[in-house]
Amino acid sequence: PVLRVAIMGLGSYGTRVAEAMRACTRARLVGVISGTPTKVRVWQERYGIPAKNCYDYGNYDQIKNNRDIDAVYVITPNALHHDAVIRVAKAGKHVICEKPMAVNARQGQEMVDACKAAGVQLLVGYRMHFEPHTLEVIRMRKEGAFGPIRFFQGLSGFIIGDPTQWRLNPALSGGGAMMDIGIYSINGSRYMTGEEPVWVTAQETKTDPVKFIKGIDETIQFQLGFPSGAVASCLSTYNANNLDRFFLDGAQGFAELLPATGYGPIQGRTHLGELQAPIVTHQTVQMDEMAQILLEGKQPVVPVDGREAVKDLTIIDAIYKAARTGQRVDLQA
Ligand code: NAD
Repeated sequence: PVLRVAIMGLGSYGTRVAEAMRACTRARLVGVISGTPTKVRVWQERYGIPAKNCYDYGNYDQIKNNRDIDAVYVITPNALHHDAVIRVAKAGKHVICEKPMAVNARQGQEMVDACKAAGVQLLVGYRMHFEPHTLEVIRMRKEGAFGPIRFFQGLSGFIIGDPTQWRLNPALSGGGAMMDIGIYSINGSRYMTGEEPVWVTAQETKTDPVKFIKGIDETIQFQLGFPSGAVASCLSTYNANNLDRFFLDGAQGFAELLPATGYGPIQGRTHLGELQAPIVTHQTVQMDEMAQILLEGKQPVVPVDGREAVKDLTIIDAIYKAARTGQRVDLQA
């Protein structure tokens, strides 16, 4: 079976996903949801999408009656994910939602609950969970190649451009660099160590309060503690370029991914030498794998469901609280 997907939000990442899906064997782009008729016409032409599979933000609840669409992929600004995912769930379709799944853990849990109540599955666009170099490090760690894990470092950042974009508007982004790029270090600290953090501390700095208004974090350093005693030290920023590095250190070895989460090619090495793994288009592999998860119940090596996203959002909530109060915030193990 092939997963028939409609994309909601025909922006820059939606376009990247659509292009990558051309090479999919198990997933196919068959529909769009957009507020811009001119874009819809371009996409119809480019991807051969029939008019009956085109919706706008007013009428997409009717997707309920469309038997040619299995799932909707929500690729709109962060703060719009919550309502969109719940509406799609109520229309009885599986949902794939971009990261961050929501702007806080409470919203995230509501989305998980709504999908459960509607009997549909909710997946999140965690493309690194299918990336071969990443999976090779995880395999080696599980095998004990690094010994007991003691330390993880995650560096996630870039210099953001256009000050008028939605990413710098808290009403649409829900936060700054942490929501956008810092989440990669949070998520990465969990899949690289294989543990869930039990405490966080965080420190925020802001050099440009005009560009980064209240509610938009420019730079946050944060630390995580894990049940084994391992610790993580991470940086999330909109004010430094080329920060995309993961370093995992154990008592008997290490792994470095550099770049760790960019669109590729991902590269890395361990104490044993260069990592050898296939170079893939992340979104192609992600959509083929998600088709098998949604249609055949396949279990991914690292979860990509809504509950996985709520874990990241819970940590983000705790990091913001720790940065605000200067206090360590404890999390449930
Ligand atoms: P974008 O601005 O390029 O696209 C957003 C789209 O949403 C646009 O087409 C816009 O028209 C549409 N939209 C609908 N309602 C809107 C509204 N009320 N206000 C503004 N825009 C509205 O942004 P993007 O880079 O494509 O990001 C979209 C989502 O994808 C974000 O959640 C982002 O975090 C995520 N993303 C994920 C990755 C990844 O690697 N997984 C990469 C980039 C972006």
